[in-house]
Amino acid sequence: MKIIIIGAGPAGLSCAFHLAKHGHNVEVYEASNLIGGMARSFDLWNQRVDLGPHRFFSKQKEVNDFFIELIKDDYTLVKRQTRIFYNNRYFDYPLKLGNVLKNLPFVTVIGILWHYFLQRLKPIKEPKNFEEWVTNRFGKKLFELFFKNYTEKLWGIKCSQIDADWAAQRIKNLSLFEAVKTAIVGNRGNKHKTLIDEFAYPNHGTGTIYERAVDYIHANGGNVFLNKPIKRVLLDENNTTAKGIELIDGTICYADSVVSTMPLTLLVKGLQAVPDAVSDAISKLYFRNTILVYLEINQEFLFTDNWLYIHSPNVKHGRVTNFRNWSPHLNKDQKSTILCMEFWCFENDEIWNGDENNISKTAQEEIYKINLIPPSAQILNTKIIKIPKCYPVYETGYQSNLNEIVTYLKTIKSLYPIGRYGAFKYNNQDHSILMGILAANNIMGKTETDLWLINTDTEYHEKGKSMNKNDTLR
Ligand SMILES: Cc1cc2nc3c(=O)[nH]c(=O)nc-3n(C[C@H](O)[C@H](O)[C@H](O)COP(=O)(O)OP(=O)(O)OC[C@H]3O[C@@H](n4cnc5c(N)ncnc54)[C@H](O)[C@@H]3O)c2cc1C
Repeated sequence: MKIIIIGAGPAGLSCAFHLAKHGHNVEVYEASNLIGGMARSFDLWNQRVDLGPHRFFSKQKEVNDFFIELIKDDYTLVKRQTRIFYNNRYFDYPLKLGNVLKNLPFVTVIGILWHYFLQRLKPIKEPKNFEEWVTNRFGKKLFELFFKNYTEKLWGIKCSQIDADWAAQRIKNLSLFEAVKTAIVGNRGNKHKTLIDEFAYPNHGTGTIYERAVDYIHANGGNVFLNKPIKRVLLDENNTTAKGIELIDGTICYADSVVSTMPLTLLVKGLQAVPDAVSDAISKLYFRNTILVYLEINQEFLFTDNWLYIHSPNVKHGRVTNFRNWSPHLNKDQKSTILCMEFWCFENDEIWNGDENNISKTAQEEIYKINLIPPSAQILNTKIIKIPKCYPVYETGYQSNLNEIVTYLKTIKSLYPIGRYGAFKYNNQDHSILMGILAANNIMGKTETDLWLINTDTEYHEKGKSMNKNDTLR
């Protein structure tokens, strides 16, 4: 069998890896000159960095096996340290009781509990949006204090316009009771993924997983072509079976199956004879972009967090990562520290299209404003990386548009759309890897998994075990 895979990110490469392992002929076409997609690592100012924070966590055996087979023992179990910056104060996250009581006025704590109990007495029966879902679970006061600002900064739309789906996927079974319990006794056994306090991290950056997957694919007869953007997927004369791809440069390649991790919107727009209802649905799906601003600071030890959530509405950025605190190998004994700040925006926003010097200036001003680095610290260098289509926006009603598209795509044989923007799912690396593995199993005829059903809840449906450093030492 010959299988063409569009995109060399976690989804595409895990799929190619599994197919190559079973002796199939795989060709991966990647638009950029880089391996790893949004989960890549790269060298910067003689150090190594990722695209923002990239913790790896999965309870799926096959996902952890993929990680271990490639990374072997070359990883660190990182003790997560994160905080939330709000109202000029830093809160430990996951919350710790003493820290909350120290940072919040007593009257606010009483207000949180009061609103929580009011909400319990009169819950919203079927919460439809993020605001209702979170208010139901945590009470109005906590929603306003801890969820509203950050969520609206991230998505660029009101919490009442965000589908409850997103909250259900990301916050899952966490409740105020569980958050308080965790604040007192800790998140024993990583019960709540939202609060997971330890994660695996490849010593030389998360992208190492994917660089090694490419080596494996090449060593097993497959090919990964860089700088090869795909224009469209080609269908047979009945428009019912994928038969190959057309590259932007006009080259045509045929295959028995095509796996696509390119943006779902672009995939569908490129297909022949798409029904009007599907075109209409695809025009209603949209993404949020990210601008990363890397800063090189002339100091070795600034703070111990892996990353911080910046909830305060008086600054534009929403998250800061400190790569020095992930693995000692990233820093390569340099005396400086690299931080990465995240700004979120839409494609038409001024910040996305405007002068990069302005973003850089804003980032520099804001990093001092939130007191994360001392006034004496100097910023030696800045670098900007723009990530288009980073977050599929789960606006209320998106699901019915997605259903229309999925129903249509299911009529096309030998085409497997998977991945984060590939399937319009808020995937982490582990979900994209799982999709890649399961797509490979379907292609090989081993399974008939409905790949559209895989989402961030999958791990809760199957009993797996989380990664244990001893696993690699057996
Ligand atoms: C700031 C940030 C923080 C994150 N934090 C975490 C985290 O803590 N933990 C975690 O697990 N995950 C995290 N993620 C998510 C993780 O990066 C993604 O889930 C993962 O990279 C998705 O893999 P994918 O293969 O589905 O898509 P991608 O990584 O987007 O890969 C898709 C690939 O397809 C290529 N492509 C697109 N169009 C075409 C085309 N027309 N032709 C050919 N190639 C094409 C792209 O160039 C890209 O290489 C984070 C992401 C970001 C941006």
